[in-house]
Amino acid sequence: MIADFQNEPFTDFSKPENAAAFRAALEHVGRQLGKTYPIVIGGRRYRDTKETFSSTNPSNPKEVIGTLAKGDAKLAIRAVEVAAATFEEWKWAPARERADVLFRVARILRERKHEMSAWMVHEVGKSWAEADGDTAEAIDFCEFYGRQAIRLAQPQPLTPQPGEDTELKYIPMGVCAVIPPWNFPLAIMAGMTVAAAVSGNTVVLKPSSDAPVIAARFFEILEEAGMPDGVVNFVPGPGAAVGDTIVDHPKTRLIAFTGSKAVGLGIAEKAGRVGPGQIWIKRAILEMGGKDFTAVDEDANFDDAVSGTVSAAFGFQGQKCSANSRTIVHEKIYKKFVEAVAAKTEKLTLGDPRDPKNFMGPVVNESQYKAVTDYIRIGRREGKLVAGGAADRRTGWFVRPTVFEGIKPSARLFREEIFGPVLAITKARDFEEILAMANATEYGLTGAYYSRDRAKITMAKRLLHCGNLYINRKCTGAMVDGHPFGGFNMSGTDSKAGGRDYLLLFTQAKSISERV
Ligand code: NAD
Repeated sequence: MIADFQNEPFTDFSKPENAAAFRAALEHVGRQLGKTYPIVIGGRRYRDTKETFSSTNPSNPKEVIGTLAKGDAKLAIRAVEVAAATFEEWKWAPARERADVLFRVARILRERKHEMSAWMVHEVGKSWAEADGDTAEAIDFCEFYGRQAIRLAQPQPLTPQPGEDTELKYIPMGVCAVIPPWNFPLAIMAGMTVAAAVSGNTVVLKPSSDAPVIAARFFEILEEAGMPDGVVNFVPGPGAAVGDTIVDHPKTRLIAFTGSKAVGLGIAEKAGRVGPGQIWIKRAILEMGGKDFTAVDEDANFDDAVSGTVSAAFGFQGQKCSANSRTIVHEKIYKKFVEAVAAKTEKLTLGDPRDPKNFMGPVVNESQYKAVTDYIRIGRREGKLVAGGAADRRTGWFVRPTVFEGIKPSARLFREEIFGPVLAITKARDFEEILAMANATEYGLTGAYYSRDRAKITMAKRLLHCGNLYINRKCTGAMVDGHPFGGFNMSGTDSKAGGRDYLLLFTQAKSISERV
């Protein structure tokens, strides 16, 4: 008997024993920095590639987190070929056997929870709590998708047909190219990988070059948990050389991508092309960017709305696809609201997240630092700066949490994904204008609406168009199987990761009937 799924609890760091354990994990990881990690294809380790690349700590870019063998097109092709050959066996493994691997992965992750989180503090600058949430979500994905694979393997309900025995089976598809982002470097990377594998597919995993060490560490856990060689193949390297190659390869059957709109649209286009000898249309599961909103009505619980606004805008430096980057506020409370958000934002602490007194860490890399500081310059033209605005690159990629008010819906700050600690606040006349402004985007990932008015809440639930809508709570923090996650329009294919339909995307349904 497998127990019902339950979300992994978050760690309470106010307990001295938990804080001490996390400090010990940070020290432990600190002693392991700078190691080298191979490419692994079919269990074979490739260490002596022509080139390598290093991953550095965004709080201190001189600190090398790890160095990786750098994949190229040739190795990427080999990985797809090995995955295709391994698929011929793995596709027959019973669902329970595949799920058991995930349950073992979850157990190991739980045992090494603080260690995995400590890697994220070092490699991408997550605070303790943000890293702990990321690891908990990775555990949840393993536990949840394991259970879902077992459920999908059960006999499926069909209307009986006279004189026939009928059945419907969800069968695996083939080689899956898994291409994750760096911002949930454990949870999203692990979630897409294990979803593909537990459904009976084989995987070529190309981690983000900003978070390859976390992925390498996770790959070691997969091996330790008994994932057979060749089921998941690990090929770090450039998006263009490795990513493009695994997307283009005619033996690739499906692609699971999470990342930016630009790269996602490129993959959609490439996936539509049919390569030599290819006998299928590639399936592309694409989860992309967001321009998420918090909408605050005149009758909202003021303090809740201020807290939800600030925490969803600046948690992990605003580098979440679900981050609140536009706050739309009813004119009756606008001035007071802007003041309260600005005051709360100014109090946020910024610095190396190894020190838990820092709520915010650095942005992930130099190009992100440049992009965010460019948007701050644009914001100064498009609105009025009310908090933050400063950035300091002397020790790491640090940008103060920044708030602009008076941003018009036509402004770039209102329309473009920034993916950093920059919040735009916009004034709305009334409820109707709040809804119209919230929906005035090409994206459609998350949104929050704050009000105490039941009739308006009912309307908002119906009319606000985004994949994950929250009422009277912040727009970040989706829980596996509590808030299946995925967006509309340019936010992607609405895959609903962490939901009961997710594994269907990694399978195809075969209907069989036998005359009796
Ligand atoms: P990105 O698009 O730059 O990179 C994502 C992945 O694609 C990386 O592994 C990268 O190496 C790879 N890649 C780059 N070029 C490629 C190519 N030509 N072919 C194949 N692969 C290629 O995104 P990022 O900066 O890593 O992540 C941030 C973005 O991800 C934001 O836009 C954010 O909103 C989005 N995101 C979306 C979700 C969601 O669920 N919708 C979740 C997290 C992040």
